[in-house]
Amino acid sequence: MNQQKILTPEPKVKVATHPLTRHAVGIVGGTFNPVHLGHLVMADQVMCQLKLERILFIPDAEPPHVDHKETIAAKDRVAMLELAIANHPGFELDLLEIARGGKSYTYDTIVELKKRHPMNDYYLILGADMINYLKKWHRINDLAKLVTFVGVKRPGYPAQSQYPVIWVDAPELAISSTRIRGLVKNHCSIRYLVPAAVEKYIAEKGLYHD
Ligand code: ATP
Ligand code: MG
Repeated sequence: MNQQKILTPEPKVKVATHPLTRHAVGIVGGTFNPVHLGHLVMADQVMCQLKLERILFIPDAEPPHVDHKETIAAKDRVAMLELAIANHPGFELDLLEIARGGKSYTYDTIVELKKRHPMNDYYLILGADMINYLKKWHRINDLAKLVTFVGVKRPGYPAQSQYPVIWVDAPELAISSTRIRGLVKNHCSIRYLVPAAVEKYIAEKGLYHD
């Protein structure tokens, strides 16, 4: 008997037995010097309103922009982020830019993330100040093809862009890391502007005093 005849032929197209699920993941990048409630409210509101699965906080090793600002050690910025996101099940820290060191372009970071996690769709969450700045970003047109830009209004900056942006209506908080650093330097309270654990960390380490 010809065995060939009883063999089941290989299907021409392989059909997946389980549907492949894509994951909607938000990204908040920044220097987080230090992290404050503006960052956290923005991330939480976008996650909820756009029904994202989770949010990655990606601290930079060095700020990549022309307005170079003094920053404290990455170790302290990361420790404060860890404290700030500890109780939120959807918030995660990704240290790929710190691990790479030096200046990272968002384009390179996204290419790397997409290589590692091809089933993720990334939503790049930016305050209005950063949205205004997009046109100066490295490989912005390529980046625009890889992510969805999500804008969050920030007092003092127009909510407009030449790029496609989903604007999320979150409470506008006039809190910035610059302001936090200034308050600490002047021995003023930062209570209610940063998570209590971050306030404690700053006090214990004596950050931002000189
Ligand atoms: P700095 O004053 O040192 O520039 P920052 O408060 O702007 O600090 P960054 O770490 O520079 O914080 O910002 C990271 C991201 O968070 C950016 O996209 C920025 O636009 C956004 N962001 C920060 N604070 C707010 C805020 N209060 N409302 C909306 N977006 C914010
Ligand atoms: Mg900033």
